[in-house]
Amino acid sequence: MSVPRLEVRLDLVGLNTAAMVRRLGERGIAVTAVTKALLGAVPLARVFVAAGAAGLGDSRVANVATMRDAGVAAPVTLVRTPMLSQVERVVQLCDTSCNTEPRVLAALSAAARAQGRRHGVVLMVELGDLREGIMPDDLAAIARATRGLPNLLLRGIGANLACRSGVVPDAANMAELSGLAALVEHATDAPLEVVSGGNSANLGWALGPGGTGRINDLRLGEALLLGLDPVERQPVEGLHTDALRLVAEVIESGAKPSMPWGTIAQTAFGERLGQVERGKVVQTILALGRQDTDTTDLVAPPGMTIVGSSSDHLVTWTDERVAPGTEVAFAPGYAAVLRSMTSPTVETVYVDEAAERPVPALK
Ligand SMILES: *Cc1c(COP(=O)(O)O)cnc(C)c1O
Repeated sequence: MSVPRLEVRLDLVGLNTAAMVRRLGERGIAVTAVTKALLGAVPLARVFVAAGAAGLGDSRVANVATMRDAGVAAPVTLVRTPMLSQVERVVQLCDTSCNTEPRVLAALSAAARAQGRRHGVVLMVELGDLREGIMPDDLAAIARATRGLPNLLLRGIGANLACRSGVVPDAANMAELSGLAALVEHATDAPLEVVSGGNSANLGWALGPGGTGRINDLRLGEALLLGLDPVERQPVEGLHTDALRLVAEVIESGAKPSMPWGTIAQTAFGERLGQVERGKVVQTILALGRQDTDTTDLVAPPGMTIVGSSSDHLVTWTDERVAPGTEVAFAPGYAAVLRSMTSPTVETVYVDEAAERPVPALK
């Protein structure tokens, strides 16, 4: 196996998914499992479906094409508003898409008509995070217009919080969404099948003490992969937080001063570092850099502290010397996973339940 590599424990992702499907199911909420962080990886999609996800969600048509080409037949929702330039492929590959733009809706209907299909629509509502969403005052009119388009099926409404601005899903904004569902039903004189409350950041609200109102779907990615609630990046009770590991190889290790010397100006990345005098340290370098991942979003194993990085080097301090060639596993956060997945220099390895973990931890 090559290094650096991102290891995905599919069995643990499956357990996380099954746990969420069960716990949210008790509250009347289905799981749309989001594949975008791993670029629509087919092994991931299959695990999500086997664990009981009601459907799959992805933000990119190319990822959906990857899954469809491999024969993944589960219902797929495009969770980003379609590009006008891609409506044909959206209709061809996705059962449903999340939408906000009347012009795109009209184009989706036309594309669906040309393909002899009916395309599902979830209208996204703005609840304060200021990313995608129709302003609540405009929702009824757009819902009526959507209902009037012959080859679209208005399946529901949804919202997305905690992404652009960090607005926390709570009883108030979720109650607003429930109220808007009733308003749309009244305006269109038709029931809504889906009220999609949000993403992994909704888990605190969804699993908390209050009721869940009309919300009957959540679109979950990070919680299933990393076991974390993104609101404060805390573990979700009962979920595995070690399903993903980023493994890198040590290329140099030895005693060095902790402080640089000479005239100090900018680093390679335009930063000026506050240095800490620690006397002599054991400095251990791994062949992992900013070209591979977000090096600021990694947790090192016990006995190792990340102190710096450049394009190709991760500089750490370790309790002891580490032999060159030693593989070290880091816990990646969401940003590190995204960067690793889009870096051609990092291989992704899917490990299944029966397999031994191929790499021992550092200590
Ligand atoms: C990415 C995304 C999700 C999944 O978010 P997680 O935080 O990974 O659970 C859900 N909905 C939308 C609209 C998204 O863009």
